[in-house]
Amino acid sequence: MARTKLVVGNWKMYGVGSDIAEIEAIAASAKKFPQVETGLCVPATLIERAVRAVPGFPIGAQDVHFAEKGAHTGCVATAMLVDAGATMAIVGHSERRDAQRETDDEVRQKASAALDAGLLTILCVGESLTVREAGDAVPNVERQLDSSLPRGIDVSKLALAYEPIWAIGTGRTATAADIGEMHSALRRRLRAAYGDAGDEIRILYGGSVKPMNAAEIFSVKDVDGALVGGASLKAADFVPIIEAAA
Ligand code: PGA
Repeated sequence: MARTKLVVGNWKMYGVGSDIAEIEAIAASAKKFPQVETGLCVPATLIERAVRAVPGFPIGAQDVHFAEKGAHTGCVATAMLVDAGATMAIVGHSERRDAQRETDDEVRQKASAALDAGLLTILCVGESLTVREAGDAVPNVERQLDSSLPRGIDVSKLALAYEPIWAIGTGRTATAADIGEMHSALRRRLRAAYGDAGDEIRILYGGSVKPMNAAEIFSVKDVDGALVGGASLKAADFVPIIEAAA
């Protein structure tokens, strides 16, 4: 089945008002590739300004809280993100699973909350280097996926990102064969969980995607796009990655 490629930038904890010009440059160039869906997940403080600067270009958050509202100091609810103009969100990024000790169960609740709010929701999974070297990557990530997947909810706006932890920000990428093996395993799990609807969910690859390796990664079966960290900060790096997906 033909799935529209999705290439999303994750700005992590980078970006202040003076970087809006870079977002404008990215959005202007992305328009030249209408066959690729794109977007940028920026720090919460930049969402509203970015939305105003690039109307129509998808801007998202890097995390959501699963509660509608309440005594959760420092957290941001999905309705607040929608109110700021966000149309997408990342949940379960490995940096949060690690530093904020997010569990699969919390990630599942976050994915449900984000989907309920109508956000395009990018659910991240991925294995550590120890797990990869022990040869357990596929069953490990399958287990993580099964317990992070939201159930009993419309998943038409759900996307997955397979991000091997050892490839994030390190300049190392998984081989095309490893990516292919993992993505087809994840596709099978999605079909098992959601039936035909599981076929429509995009599976992105993430971890040191750069202009020089993007085309090879996008040519792998069942790779439907990328979640890009470092190389999404500058139009000069991010736009060639979008172009490679076109
Ligand atoms: P990277 O980050 O492209 O800088 O490796 C990817 C991510 O963490 O989403």
